[in-house]
Amino acid sequence: MPDKHNNKYARQRTSCLFFWRHILSFENLPDLLSSHNNSADFNGTRAMQIASRACILTALFAVLALLWIAIDRITLNSSIFYDILPGRLALIAVFGGLALYTSRFQNLNLSRFRLLILMLAPALFYVFSQTHLPSVTAGTITTDTNSFVSLGYSFYPFVLIIQLAIFPLTLIECVLLTLPVLLCVAWAGYLTDKLWSVQLLEQFWLLFLLMMVAWWASLSQLNLLLRLYRQATHDPLTGLANRRLFMQQLATEIERAQRYRHPMSLIIFDLDHFKHVNDNYGHLQGDEVLKRFARLMVDTIRGNDLAGRYGGEEFIVLLPETPAHTAAEVAERIRQACTAQPVIVSRERHISFTASAGIAQLHPDEQAEQLINRADSSLYKAKETGRNRIVLVN
Ligand code: GH3
Ligand code: MG
Ligand code: MG
Repeated sequence: MPDKHNNKYARQRTSCLFFWRHILSFENLPDLLSSHNNSADFNGTRAMQIASRACILTALFAVLALLWIAIDRITLNSSIFYDILPGRLALIAVFGGLALYTSRFQNLNLSRFRLLILMLAPALFYVFSQTHLPSVTAGTITTDTNSFVSLGYSFYPFVLIIQLAIFPLTLIECVLLTLPVLLCVAWAGYLTDKLWSVQLLEQFWLLFLLMMVAWWASLSQLNLLLRLYRQATHDPLTGLANRRLFMQQLATEIERAQRYRHPMSLIIFDLDHFKHVNDNYGHLQGDEVLKRFARLMVDTIRGNDLAGRYGGEEFIVLLPETPAHTAAEVAERIRQACTAQPVIVSRERHISFTASAGIAQLHPDEQAEQLINRADSSLYKAKETGRNRIVLVN
């Protein structure tokens, strides 16, 4: 009975711990801190997401800022209205410019710059407006129309902080984009002699709470995007690039190699008699062989090279800046590693496996399909001439 009770308690505790670990888990923690380790392709995808959302937001803000002129005109007295008008027109121009500026090539730095302007321009306008409007605190009830409009202006920093929630950002980006807004709030406080007031402290406290929510939402979005991106572009068994991502990268690298007249090579591997491995040891052990081979490849190639799973037991490696004879050396190292490192099932049972490879170097004006076909016919020759070998045909 006590055992049963303990087991039940332990189970509850583990499930509770598991639950909290699950809630708090950001499994891609280093990638959530900075984009340094992310692939160029993922950064491009994220840049597009940020740019498209920022574009919609700036267009919306440009229209709202324009409409707000009418509210200012009706509610503010003339002198304040004309004092604020140049700042508002400048803000509309910045928002309009950002909304209209669309580039076909969205890179991450460009998207970050767009976001920075999206945060900074209204934050500066907030500082400007605070020096002209009557003093009022967000959340206070007022009947004076000037003060009523001031109240609307006082919400600017809160809107700016909250808008971060709609972008998939890293923690460093969140900090760097929030900082200018907080500095502008402090600056406005200084200019209006409220720097050390309780009112400003309250404002900062609320901003801090909203900031936490916005950052959390932003990081969660990035986490989700990373997870979906990995599922869509990587092979779940081996963790290598799947065919889709590989072909995309191959097209990019071919374009680059041909533009700068640099060498580039391709290796296609096929495990020999893999059907026998499955038949003799079962599919699960077959999977272990595939995983082992993938690791051997990744451990052998350079950081700039890209390894992918092309089909069932077929793998492909892209080697930028590499002539065919160097690619042949790399392929040979991988082939030798296969024979040297069998998969160990038990003390008595080792699964030895071998691989054949075909290599081709990119010709000028050649497309991905032709390059793959040439590497494939080299592989076919390797199979025909006895397997467990590398063949390079020009
Ligand atoms: P060859 O030397 O001519 O390449 O012979 P092979 O037996 O390797 O080639 P074949 O195309 O006849 O068989 C490939 C086998 O790979 C058949 C298929 O069941 C197996 N396979 C494909 N994908 C997977 C996988 O994800 N896991 C496992 N365990 N087996 C796979
Ligand atoms: Mg095959
Ligand atoms: Mg095979």
